[in-house]
Amino acid sequence: MVTPPPGSPAGPGQPGTHLTHGAHPHVVPRHPRLDPLADRYAARTHGMKSSEIRALFSVVSRPEVVSLAGGMPAVTALPLDAVGLMIGDLVSGMGAQTLQYGSGQGDPRLRERICDVMALEGITDASASEVVVTVGSQQGLDLVTRVFVDPGDVILAEGPSYVGALGVFQAAQARVRHVAMDEHGLIPEALEEALADCRANGDRVKFLYTVPNFHNPAGVTLSEPRREAVMALAEQHDLLIIEDNPYGLLGFEHEPLRALRARNSQRVIYLGSFSKTFSPGLRVGWVLAPLAVREKLVLATEAQVLCPPSLTQYAVARYLDTQPWREQIKTFTELYRERRDATLESLAALMPAGTAWTKPEGGFYVWLKLPAGLDAKLMQPRAVAAHVAYVPGIGFFADGNGQEYMRLSYCYPEPDQIREGVRRLARVVEAELDL
Ligand code: PMP
Repeated sequence: MVTPPPGSPAGPGQPGTHLTHGAHPHVVPRHPRLDPLADRYAARTHGMKSSEIRALFSVVSRPEVVSLAGGMPAVTALPLDAVGLMIGDLVSGMGAQTLQYGSGQGDPRLRERICDVMALEGITDASASEVVVTVGSQQGLDLVTRVFVDPGDVILAEGPSYVGALGVFQAAQARVRHVAMDEHGLIPEALEEALADCRANGDRVKFLYTVPNFHNPAGVTLSEPRREAVMALAEQHDLLIIEDNPYGLLGFEHEPLRALRARNSQRVIYLGSFSKTFSPGLRVGWVLAPLAVREKLVLATEAQVLCPPSLTQYAVARYLDTQPWREQIKTFTELYRERRDATLESLAALMPAGTAWTKPEGGFYVWLKLPAGLDAKLMQPRAVAAHVAYVPGIGFFADGNGQEYMRLSYCYPEPDQIREGVRRLARVVEAELDL
């Protein structure tokens, strides 16, 4: 099976060829008769749209539906009793401090431990003073965007890109220019071309946003040579890079590749998260940034939430201090590897000719390209009727492309459910081809 170059479908409207600004088919209607405040909303709300994934929530929670849609971590694999005891001990042992406001930058002990976590990906020079704790890396994305992006600024981002990042960029009224990827991740030549185009147009590129490991949604990883090439381009073009890395420790095949931040501490702002290695519900992530940027990020977080929640920060710090977290990551990785295998084997056995998909070496996602002429969004009601859910690809492009793609998440369902889900999906695709 050929691996599809994610986000480089043939034909007109190829992702990566235009800039987009807000416009999207799923914009909430603004009509004075329906909403008396319609003419008062800030311009930045105009491009806001509901996420393809959230729109699926009511469907995927139905027990008869196999959901290959949401990227929900398998938290049931955590030692819940031990975590429960640990949180109880925390409140009784540390007392009222756990329930009090804390520092805007985040708990110093946790920031130290975060540096230990980042060392696993080759970031050995980070200091706790350069870390800002955030409410998940989602808040990190928002903070970085607030600090750097003015309306109309250009952000370069892989095509496809993480839907939550696109939402933040859209709310900041940025223009997103996609950069094509293939099975080895972002294509350096495409990045160079994008930079040249922007320069020719007089567009200001604020940063490149990239998910180098086990990309969401493309499932691919930026290869070692390409990491070097991207960093060389960054140097040559004075480019700032936002490296978003929630999945880096969840590799199935080899030790983590060295982070981009490990190669350059001034050009890369790094976003991390405990959502996939521990718990998404605790909402603890972080940003690692040069000190001057860190200063601005803390001011922005203070304006937004005053400080990150105390109890969850202490819980994560205590977890890292007292629980076998590295072994737990291995447990998660084994479980996701089994689910990835079930997904790839079922796809290979069941999908009709003309379908192609990526082969993730870690993380949660497979990016699937439908046979020519099929549209994942149009097919979705038929899939839901057949009790299988996925996320249509268009949500992962700021420019309305990606109709022929879908994201399949294998992180949550059991292997047997995955096999059944893929069986149902294959039948839907076959029926679609017969239409
Ligand atoms: N970045 C990427 C690439 C993601 O996939 C996610 C979650 N799906 C996030 C950031 C946000 O994660 P969190 O806020 O839970 O840390």
